[in-house]
Amino acid sequence: MLNVDDALRKLSDLALPVLDSEAIPLSASNGRVVASIIEAPMDVPPFDASAMDGYALHAHDLDLDLNQDQGLTVVGESKAGHVYQDPLVPGTTVRIFTGAPIPNGTAAVVIQEDIERNGDQIRFRVSPEIGENIRSQGHDIAKMQLLAKSGDRLDAYKISLLAACGVTEVTAVRRIRVALFSTGDELTDPGSPLGPGQIYDANRTALRELVSERPVEVLDLGALPDDPQAISRALQTAVETADVVITSGGVSVGDADYVKDVVAQVGSLDFWKIALKPGKPLAVGRVGNALFFGLPGNPVSTIITYLLFVAPTIDRLCGMPDSTPHQLPAILQGTIEHHRGRREYVRGIFRINGNRITVSPNGDQSSNRLTSFANANCLIVVPERTDGIKPGSIVDILLLPTDRAHIWTG
Ligand code: AMP
Ligand code: MG
Repeated sequence: MLNVDDALRKLSDLALPVLDSEAIPLSASNGRVVASIIEAPMDVPPFDASAMDGYALHAHDLDLDLNQDQGLTVVGESKAGHVYQDPLVPGTTVRIFTGAPIPNGTAAVVIQEDIERNGDQIRFRVSPEIGENIRSQGHDIAKMQLLAKSGDRLDAYKISLLAACGVTEVTAVRRIRVALFSTGDELTDPGSPLGPGQIYDANRTALRELVSERPVEVLDLGALPDDPQAISRALQTAVETADVVITSGGVSVGDADYVKDVVAQVGSLDFWKIALKPGKPLAVGRVGNALFFGLPGNPVSTIITYLLFVAPTIDRLCGMPDSTPHQLPAILQGTIEHHRGRREYVRGIFRINGNRITVSPNGDQSSNRLTSFANANCLIVVPERTDGIKPGSIVDILLLPTDRAHIWTG
């Protein structure tokens, strides 16, 4: 059996980045992968601006002595969005607000907390340094600065950077086309009544939702019976357009497990069976120009093999650089039973207690138990060569890509 790392290496040789790109509006670019470099078309801020609410000072007036010198006469006002046209003359000042362009000749801005104002006269106690409280032109973003490069995935932060420079359109890698179907005579879609011996198809929903977190177009081919001809037809439909075909079920060694045989007939199988728990029967191959992933049918196995193998492959096809999972050491609370041989991924819950991260397995780890994912926020990695892990041991955890890890998590 292939170990997980060798399987991932083989897979990265099979997955070649998609090179097609398209121009898309910035407003529709969240989650998309950039296909070329983007340089700032302008400086931000586009002019020297005040960083504070205060008063603009001429260089001659920076060192005024509060006790001896006269104050400065306020001759006007500069608000954000408005330009004070006249140059600043020594002995005068302009009331100025955060983000407003500074008048020509301004050497510094004294903050309003540091002045005393009497009618149109101000005096200040603390003299600012030259340039103080002025945001110079391009202080945030300099024209021609690199803002994004091929392979960068856009998010709210990067998109706002582009918007600040007036960018309205980006060149993005086209969406990866993912076809998926589940297999199993027992499967029914939620919404239809269950016949005897039937269950609802959970995996297709899991896969649809998981792939939708990436820049993909989904072709959902439904739940298919355990019928080689139906599977073959669906595969051929899928590969007319798809870059990736994902199936669930029918890749194990049961009498009704036809999927990998059909793939071997209409395409080729590159590998099958991984030293992995759960998810051993994973099958990977090619049909037409598409990469094929036959994920095992037990829902936990489906999700684990998706996260470990399919998700990074989609990223790679998008042209994103290869990444390593977010892995952290944590102190195990509880015991993990394990037999040597396969690497196991145990659904867990980690907590941050002061400067310690602790983790507990999230209940019964049977591969049919979707509830083991329900509150989980990580996977505990159990290495191939271990006979079980004792409480208090340091284990590696992989953070699950979930909103449960956002900054407000208590
Ligand atoms: P298989 O990999 O086809 O042998 O299926 C293994 C187990 O997973 C069986 O108990 C199936 O009933 C179950 N299973 C297969 N496909 C799905 C699915 N789409 N949703 C929920 N359970 C499934
Ligand atoms: Mg089955």
